[in-house]
Amino acid sequence: MSEKFTGSFTQQEALPDAAIEAALQVLRHGRLHRYNVTEGELGETALLEQEFAAQVGAKYCLAVASGGYALATALRAVGVKHGDKVLTNAFTLAPVPGAIASVGASPVFVGVTEDLTIDLEDLAAKADQADFLMLSHMRGHLCDMDRLMQICDAAGIVVIEDCAHTMGAAWNGVASGRQGAVGCYSCQTYKHVNSGEGGLFVTDDAEVAARAIMLSGSYMLYERHLAAPAPEVFETVKYETPNISGRMDNLRAAILRPQLRDLKSQVARWNERYQVIEAGLRDLPGLTLVERPEAESYVGSSIQFLLLDWSAQTCRR
Ligand SMILES: *Cc1c(COP(=O)(O)O)cnc(C)c1O
Repeated sequence: MSEKFTGSFTQQEALPDAAIEAALQVLRHGRLHRYNVTEGELGETALLEQEFAAQVGAKYCLAVASGGYALATALRAVGVKHGDKVLTNAFTLAPVPGAIASVGASPVFVGVTEDLTIDLEDLAAKADQADFLMLSHMRGHLCDMDRLMQICDAAGIVVIEDCAHTMGAAWNGVASGRQGAVGCYSCQTYKHVNSGEGGLFVTDDAEVAARAIMLSGSYMLYERHLAAPAPEVFETVKYETPNISGRMDNLRAAILRPQLRDLKSQVARWNERYQVIEAGLRDLPGLTLVERPEAESYVGSSIQFLLLDWSAQTCRR
């Protein structure tokens, strides 16, 4: 082998010129707060929400301050209360059980298979223990989403999807985040689009959307949204929903819009590299790749393999 990779697997790329231009425009006019718009101006954040809703085929979209904020907002908006239990897969990242803890609920952990996805047998066995599932598509691996939704629908479990690693992915052609009641995405630097910090929330449920918008800190300005339910839906919601400010701002939204337009070609670039690395790792003794199911359109922004039956010490080395 003569070729040696000397680049960085993890360092973020520069932002595209279109994002830099869009950011400069916002900086030049100074209207960074999402509701600070001039007569007739729609605002970058509202436009971002409208575009992302269209991109994933959702009725409603809300842009927020982080992926973790989107998750906690989703739990509140679907009605998780203090003391409730929330099913969640055990292979995850701290902000996921953290979101559950932040609303005073407690996690019921569900096992994970060697495909690194939620163990659906274990989920079925625990389905009577909670009314909610926070499903984290950890490292971009999608489980059999049709089977998962069958289990959850049959048990009356409301599903929230953590799509921090699956923005741009799909299961049987359905965009990740669109099977559950709510899909949550992260836009921070280590994810698929980069605004430093940021999150997106999508749903088809008008009341859930209205509650999330009020929670995020819309005050009485929800009519300035372009991917929100009709004002009537807010009539009761606005008097019952606390404000827990966590809005997206126009600078981040401006940076994100061109990146979302490029997402498809970025995914193609990442997957090309993924497949090269995967081919290089295939058939290495002792190393087990995670095979990608036919129904899964994945985003190969990271790669996982298993070292089954290795000692912890050897794994570390
Ligand atoms: C990054 C991440 C989040 C939360 O995103 P933040 O924007 O950092 O709050 C949630 N779940 C997973 C699996 C993540 O990797």
